Amino acid sequence: MKKTVSFSRNSTNLFFHILTGCNLSCRHCYINRSQHGEQTLPIETIESWLTSFSGTNREANVIFLGGEPTLHPDLARAVKKARALGYKSVTIDTNGYLFHDILDRVTPSEVDFVSFSLDGPTSAVNDAIRGEGSFERCTSGIRAAVQKGFNTSLIYTVSSANIHELSAMPELLAELGIRRFFIQVIGLRGNSAGEGAETLQVDRSLWLSTIPGVAEEAASLGITVTWPKVYLDPDEPFECAGLVADNHFIFPNGRVYRCPLCEDFALHGHEMEGDTLVDTPKINENDMFRLSIPEGCVMNKMIQPDNISYGEGGVPEHRIACCLLKEEMAPRPV
Ligand code: SF4
Ligand code: SF4
Repeated sequence: MKKTVSFSRNSTNLFFHILTGCNLSCRHCYINRSQHGEQTLPIETIESWLTSFSGTNREANVIFLGGEPTLHPDLARAVKKARALGYKSVTIDTNGYLFHDILDRVTPSEVDFVSFSLDGPTSAVNDAIRGEGSFERCTSGIRAAVQKGFNTSLIYTVSSANIHELSAMPELLAELGIRRFFIQVIGLRGNSAGEGAETLQVDRSLWLSTIPGVAEEAASLGITVTWPKVYLDPDEPFECAGLVADNHFIFPNGRVYRCPLCEDFALHGHEMEGDTLVDTPKINENDMFRLSIPEGCVMNKMIQPDNISYGEGGVPEHRIACCLLKEEMAPRPV
């Protein structure tokens, strides 16, 4: 049975990009170095920013991201610092190359999930998007992590280039020992916003007719599945996470966004000034969050309007949910 997971109001969630460098150059990479900087954050800065965000009375969760975060030579130290500061959960998102022997330098009790990105059930599909050899390296990385006792999850970014192969994923995930499956939808930012962007987006009826069935299949194999809601039901209220959740998408140049769809623009509502989170001048994303439009999410309407259709009189046929609103399907006994 699927359920909509509302935004968490009692926790602080850090999506901490500790560098923007990467060994791959995926077709849909959302990293935009002209906006997010080229630098690798020194470990001292990572530690002090982790400390700044842990000083509230909410529980805090951190996901270490890049670029490829395992390229950072001090990722293990950052993980241990987050643990020492009492972060409730610590996740590493990786493309699977697992640089700097990261699995030997952290333990399963220090990392809640190692989360791998794979965009196809075969080398042919995945490598056309993520680069030659990446399927092999990622699946080898997953096997190594599982063998060492880490909880593993997998992120599959759905686009027109791979939605037709999604149904083959549950069997592969079960074989690899993956515990959680995150189906993501392509967002038109970073590389995806470039040439050919419109052809990458997935048609609404194809999305709705594909995703729940794949989720059912994965859940029947004992895997928890999460995917973005994207299209609100007619009677469902619209809510913007930027107004009600405490999410921070942090970049090495100090920009801190609340909305991932804003990341291609200098619309960040906050930035790090030394170790302190400060507000940025208007106009910024916070001004967008308060706009109410019949299409739902304002940023979606601005950057990827092709996923909205209109009926008679220009009335939208459906509303677009906040990109952070998720559906979840719990595993069923195998
Ligand atoms: S999507 Fe991730 S793995 Fe691919 S190029 Fe971008 S940062 Fe690297
Ligand atoms: S995706 Fe839309 S609804 Fe969600 S935080 Fe951004 S602007 Fe708000």
